[in-house]
Amino acid sequence: MERVFNFSAGPACLPLEVLEEVQKELVNYSSSGMSVMEMSHRSKTYQAIIDSAEASLRKIMSIPENYKVLFLQGGASLQFAMVPYNLMTKNRKAHFVNTGAWSQKAIEEAQKLGEANIVASSEDKTFNYIPELSSSMFTPDADYVHITSNNTIYGTKFNKLPDVNGLPIVSDMSSCILSEVINVSDYAVIYAGAQKNIGPAGVTIVIIREDLIGNAPSSTPTMLDYKTHSDKGSMFNTPPTFAIYVAGKVFDWIDKQGGISAIQKINEKKAALLYDYLDSSSLFRGTVVKRDRSLMNVPFVTGNDELDAKFIKFASDNGLVSLKGHRSVGGMRASIYNAMPIEGVEKLVDCMKTFEKENK
Ligand SMILES: *Cc1c(COP(=O)(O)O)cnc(C)c1O
Repeated sequence: MERVFNFSAGPACLPLEVLEEVQKELVNYSSSGMSVMEMSHRSKTYQAIIDSAEASLRKIMSIPENYKVLFLQGGASLQFAMVPYNLMTKNRKAHFVNTGAWSQKAIEEAQKLGEANIVASSEDKTFNYIPELSSSMFTPDADYVHITSNNTIYGTKFNKLPDVNGLPIVSDMSSCILSEVINVSDYAVIYAGAQKNIGPAGVTIVIIREDLIGNAPSSTPTMLDYKTHSDKGSMFNTPPTFAIYVAGKVFDWIDKQGGISAIQKINEKKAALLYDYLDSSSLFRGTVVKRDRSLMNVPFVTGNDELDAKFIKFASDNGLVSLKGHRSVGGMRASIYNAMPIEGVEKLVDCMKTFEKENK
């Protein structure tokens, strides 16, 4: 079996152990005589699968009792709308930090329901940094503050949470959830599409403080009200059963690695390997301001479009695929999520060194 090192930003690589377990169970799950894909979501067997996935996520993230975990559909993109429907209810205003395309999409959706106030933006430099933030920007006349913790396209991340004067913080963690230890209680809502660092596309995780559920106006479409899903244990309608099953296995895999703190150490090592090389290279350079560099998405360029294309081809010929950067940044982007083994990053750096020598 030939597997490549897949640096895709999402859907992205999954742990091989998880894929192999899924393969073993694919046609006959736990002596049920059927695949999880064929199973009623109302069955006892499936209830045990979703319960175990939630328990495992609660364990690895140390999610406090007063937070609900929801398994939803619609991607992180639906959360851009669901959050304001449910939280923009008192002042009809929220503060946003604009750190890129995903923040902008969240802003556009919120503007349909109220005032989306942009407190700061890094648009002036193609979002290659996180703007300086001070508590005075976060006036108390807003219902919440929205940030994108890790900016998948540009490769920046918030290394510390801003002081927001005690306002609830909502974070889009689609590309960094489970990558490093966080304190869930610092947030009011955390949401993430699964296809970056959790599992297959199709399920979206929402972690929400209980008191923020049940405040949506009665005109809210039923499916967009967090209460609908919270009251029914994410089973108001058919949930994305197979994606939840695989996500549960990924949570268990993280637990077996020693939890998120152990994974974080490996992630830091992987990122340092790549960034240290980028800082020493005379051909390649990273595009992000050093202090705001992401652990998960590493954009880099040669400064020459032809050389970039040549490198992407060279890497692909060596079993390192999906390294093409997002069209708004150009060059290359290596997404090094939890499931990317350190060997993949080592091989990438070796490949870059060889290419550098041959293309001086
Ligand atoms: C990929 C991504 C999204 C979009 O996710 P969907 O699940 O496709 O809607 C939103 N935010 C961030 C930070 C992302 O990386």
